[in-house]
Amino acid sequence: MPTRLLIGGEWLTAGDPFPVVDPSDLSVIAEVSDAGTDEGLAAVAAAHDAFPAWSATPARQRAEVLRRAFEIMTAEADQCARLISLENGKAYRDALAETTYAAEFFRWFSEEAARVEGGFRPSPSGDKVIVTDHRPIGVAYCITPWNFPAAMATRKIGPALAAGCTVVLKPASETPLTALWIGEVMTRAGAPRGVVNVITTSRSGAVSAAVLADPRVMTLSFTGSTDVGKVLLKQTADRVLRSSMELGGNAPFVVLEGADVDAAVSGAMVAKMRNGGAACTAANRFYVHASLADPFTDRFERALAALRIGPGIDPATELGAMVSVRERDKVVQLVADAEAAGARPTRLGEAPPGGAFLAPVVVRDVEHGSLLTRTEVFGPVAPVVTFEDTDDAVRMANDTEYGLISYVYAPDAGAGLSVGRRLESGMVAVNRGVASDPAAPFGGMKESGLGREGGFAGVHEFLEVQYLAVDL
Ligand code: NAP
Repeated sequence: MPTRLLIGGEWLTAGDPFPVVDPSDLSVIAEVSDAGTDEGLAAVAAAHDAFPAWSATPARQRAEVLRRAFEIMTAEADQCARLISLENGKAYRDALAETTYAAEFFRWFSEEAARVEGGFRPSPSGDKVIVTDHRPIGVAYCITPWNFPAAMATRKIGPALAAGCTVVLKPASETPLTALWIGEVMTRAGAPRGVVNVITTSRSGAVSAAVLADPRVMTLSFTGSTDVGKVLLKQTADRVLRSSMELGGNAPFVVLEGADVDAAVSGAMVAKMRNGGAACTAANRFYVHASLADPFTDRFERALAALRIGPGIDPATELGAMVSVRERDKVVQLVADAEAAGARPTRLGEAPPGGAFLAPVVVRDVEHGSLLTRTEVFGPVAPVVTFEDTDDAVRMANDTEYGLISYVYAPDAGAGLSVGRRLESGMVAVNRGVASDPAAPFGGMKESGLGREGGFAGVHEFLEVQYLAVDL
């Protein structure tokens, strides 16, 4: 397992190493190098030096590096999943699903690398030809969160390399090992020295501020909380730096009158519990038509109570530990505050002792607008609010500064689509509990972000448009 910094194709040590903790038993599983600003800037220099040759490499060759990375990740999925599960705490089955999803970004963008289009058309004025070209933007600084340590990295490295950009990746300090492993995969896949650099640090703020101030960095691709995204946007403003922001969510899960309750419960189990609730796409608030509220909530509680909770690395585990005791305690406090305000939580199942575990909680009698419905919970907690009128459900669903994803369960696809189109979110899942797909545009409206990752749009986050006015 690599624990040093990957800079310019070399594995380097720096600083006093910092520990990586397995949240299921709080043991230290590794110590990784702690980059400071010097190492951050060395990584920028390496990426900058590698850019001319890499951006001039034919798209087909760049695509083949990504394709090999997909093949290595797929062949070594078990190793990747174990690493994710150990440092993040999530169940091995979730970690394996993440690995497949993560590898798929390499496959998708290996295909996209060769399909970047340009344009050629006469101007309506008749005086020239309008030629449009796409050019790689340059060195990309990519910051990723701890909740999907593999997929958030590949969702950036894939399109960046496909576009012809070089990368400095800075993973979350809680989950640096998966990112370092992906750095090693890229090396084995044939990415030349300096094309992918990985710096781990316990001083993310200081290192990132120095990197973003460096004029050799041409774009920031950030995935994380809205609060940190706003801090970074202020820093990028100083340099008018291009930036792509994949930020927090507060997803509503709406169950309309006449929906199939069993299907809605199955969808809720995925939408809420994939990744133990620690997903930006996690259903955060359930709005259920009054006629279905009791059967939906009762069956949802039964399904949650049946989950096997334990160390993520155990293949039988369905709900692993949260990433840290600090994150777990934040969620526990939110539930306690809701209870003090009159809501009725039901705690389902037993959390094992010793780690950052939290058994699922369903909370009834929640007021729309209470702290629990306004906060991104990021854990296995499901507040349920009932409604009588679809317009009210739409109003409550949209009543948030976030707009990443919404879920709608409807009696038929047409009804789901018509409500889905009224929801203010970049993504809407209709009669399904998951929408994420490397081939689809992922991203949010409102304070959930700027730009899109994946799909046909993803590569354009790393490309500049150049218009050439040509006199015939
Ligand atoms: P976070 O606290 O915002 O951290 C995200 C990343 O930013 C980490 O690498 C972190 O490093 C770094 N960071 C923190 N403060 C920084 C600063 N001042 N300057 C530069 N970098 C800084 O988020 P998180 O807790 O890891 O992840 C959970 C959040 O991510 C949730 O809000 C979730 O919704 C969001 N998310 C969004 C998407 C999406 O696609 N929209 C996907 C996944 C997650 P350290 O670890 O060293 O603090």
